[in-house]
Amino acid sequence: MTGSVKRTIVSSKASIKADCPTCKRSQNSIIETGVAESSAHVHVSSENNHYILRCEGCDTIFYGNHYSFSEDVEYERDPITGEWSSFTPVSKSYFPTAKKRDKPKWYNFTFQIRQEKLSELLDSLLDIFDRGHYVFAAIGVRTAFDMTSEVLGAPPHTPFSEKIEFLRKGGHITPREKSLLEKLVDVGSAAAHRGWQPNETDVELLIETLELFINRSIVLPEGLDDLVKRVPTKNFR
Ligand SMILES: [Zn+2]
Repeated sequence: MTGSVKRTIVSSKASIKADCPTCKRSQNSIIETGVAESSAHVHVSSENNHYILRCEGCDTIFYGNHYSFSEDVEYERDPITGEWSSFTPVSKSYFPTAKKRDKPKWYNFTFQIRQEKLSELLDSLLDIFDRGHYVFAAIGVRTAFDMTSEVLGAPPHTPFSEKIEFLRKGGHITPREKSLLEKLVDVGSAAAHRGWQPNETDVELLIETLELFINRSIVLPEGLDDLVKRVPTKNFR
């Protein structure tokens, strides 16, 4: 046997910089415990450190992984002397990852029960957005719009243009919103069929537009219906 793996418990309680999922930025974090794994095989070696971390800013507990491999080499230049030197980069990942976007206020338990499929789709959409898959997220916005319009009664299996016209006729959207939604659907198509590569800001704008549309067309009317039912009726005599 030429390779070996050595594992040791990390008990240093050292403080390191790590991406806190709650603070959504790099924070000083205590290594509460962990396992340091060193592997060696002939001339190559790797260090794989698993940490249970606690943010010193907000006290959140999260997981961190720092990994380095002896054959990965990168170079950096000293800004003062101009000399080049080599180093082994450390790849760092954390779980849970910091969410790029919070769920809207109206995304609560009631919404999840009433709109089960739509909320599942929104969950997946925010998940792929968090992971940085912006093309899929843009396509997902178009799909979520499609589903929302069907919740509002638009006939399934019809083109988007007909669904949007159905929403306008039914008073769910204004003419101005109609043209915005047409653009929303079109950029989703551009990502799906025309090779458009949206960035984070582009997709965030699309998601925000979609959320506004869901809020205005489904959540607010349902909330008002509930409210009206709870208000004592006027006694006409
Ligand atoms: Zn924190």
